[in-house]
Amino acid sequence: MDFEFDENQRMLRESFREFLDKEIGPLVDAQEKKGPMTKEEAISLMRRFRKVGIGFDLESMREMGSDPLGIAILVEELFRVWPSAAGLLGLSFPTALVNFAPVEMRERLMPKLEANELIGCYAITEPEAGSDNRAMRTTAVLDGDHYTVNGTKTWITNGPVSDLCLLVANDQNGQRIFLLVDKEESPYETSELHKLGWRAGPTGEIFFSDCRVPKGNNMMEMVSSMLSGRGAEVTGDGVDMAGLAKSGFMSMLGRMSPENIIFAFLRSGMGLAGSGIAQAALDASIKFAQERMQFGRPIGKFQLIQEMLYNMKALTVTSRLLSYQALQMAINGNPEARLMSSLAKGYACDAAVKVTYDGIQLHGGMGLSDEYPLERYFRDARMLTIPDGTSEIQKLVVGRELLGSGFTAYA
Ligand SMILES: Cc1cc2nc3c(=O)[nH]c(=O)nc-3n(C[C@H](O)[C@H](O)[C@H](O)COP(=O)(O)OP(=O)(O)OC[C@H]3O[C@@H](n4cnc5c(N)ncnc54)[C@H](O)[C@@H]3O)c2cc1C
Repeated sequence: MDFEFDENQRMLRESFREFLDKEIGPLVDAQEKKGPMTKEEAISLMRRFRKVGIGFDLESMREMGSDPLGIAILVEELFRVWPSAAGLLGLSFPTALVNFAPVEMRERLMPKLEANELIGCYAITEPEAGSDNRAMRTTAVLDGDHYTVNGTKTWITNGPVSDLCLLVANDQNGQRIFLLVDKEESPYETSELHKLGWRAGPTGEIFFSDCRVPKGNNMMEMVSSMLSGRGAEVTGDGVDMAGLAKSGFMSMLGRMSPENIIFAFLRSGMGLAGSGIAQAALDASIKFAQERMQFGRPIGKFQLIQEMLYNMKALTVTSRLLSYQALQMAINGNPEARLMSSLAKGYACDAAVKVTYDGIQLHGGMGLSDEYPLERYFRDARMLTIPDGTSEIQKLVVGRELLGSGFTAYA
């Protein structure tokens, strides 16, 4: 067991930090004050990330995927600097499916994907189906070679600026299916929601009204195309699909539902989001404790301030270790990733709220002022305990995994 990053991972982290501090950090305050990014602003931001090899086209994925933990490092660092941008990039993950989509869709969308101009979203939540997503009412009824989709999704990250939506719906047999909906081909309407934190990140509702989606956009068909190597053939760029197919991620498909696999990765990532924001608050607090003078000495000399820093550090380190371990399990295709990713998400997101709360306390009045970043760290951390399963739901998932399915508390 190795708790250290290797040389390549350290270099990746350093170079990404340099990029974030130089190119991205200066954009944060103005955009957060302005509110949700427009589509043009979102694309311009995504183009900046593409320059450092971050995107969902095969070339970027190959670069990033050569060390899957490298992606985790990017996630944690990005949340340290700008959670709204992390949501934009991270929740665009369904655009990766374009690489394996039916030929016509691939040809139409690939240039935009390669230019990092394609924005994706993942839509499961509905007004009446939040934690209990089995209450979902959106339907996708097969009619010849198309599905007809009807329903409303809410709280969808990137929804208002999305080009593509990975939609979860019930088919004509009441079975859950995943459809990749291309807005150009299968138009849907959206609206914006305004929220406490991640203010620059677009979040909203999506409305499907007799929306016609080609049958081939069913995700399971795309995955089977990828596993059979047809995806590589048609893209013709020599991607090692057989290697991908053998990877833990693909082998998980035999043991977990696609939804639980997506959640294992999302929840480990949300754990790292927590440790990223917590790290930012801790770094700012250490600096402030060294510089702020009261009673003739730096406040860092007071034992109660040191205790606060101790707690902040302990929560941050624990969050990081749990999250990386959960992610490694997901990468290895270990079904225990379900338990560990819920543990990591629940723990680290609650921990980020505590750490940023203490960060504000340590900064005194300046912690509440928007001249310092602490109030934003706190608002951004507070967002983490709801999406991808609330903290309560993570506890129930862990309880079920520990006790057995007969003890499910949320059936
Ligand atoms: C910023 C943000 C971004 C999001 N992005 C996306 C996205 O991209 N795609 C998407 O599909 N969804 C997204 N969501 C939706 C998110 O997943 C849901 O908000 C979440 O699952 C909770 O559902 P809810 O808000 O309806 O709350 P509810 O499910 O109504 O929960 C209300 C309260 O009841 C508690 N509760 C519910 N059931 C139980 C139970 N069995 N036992 C104990 N307590 C319980 C909850 O923990 C919570 O405290 C996002 C949400 C937010 C806030």
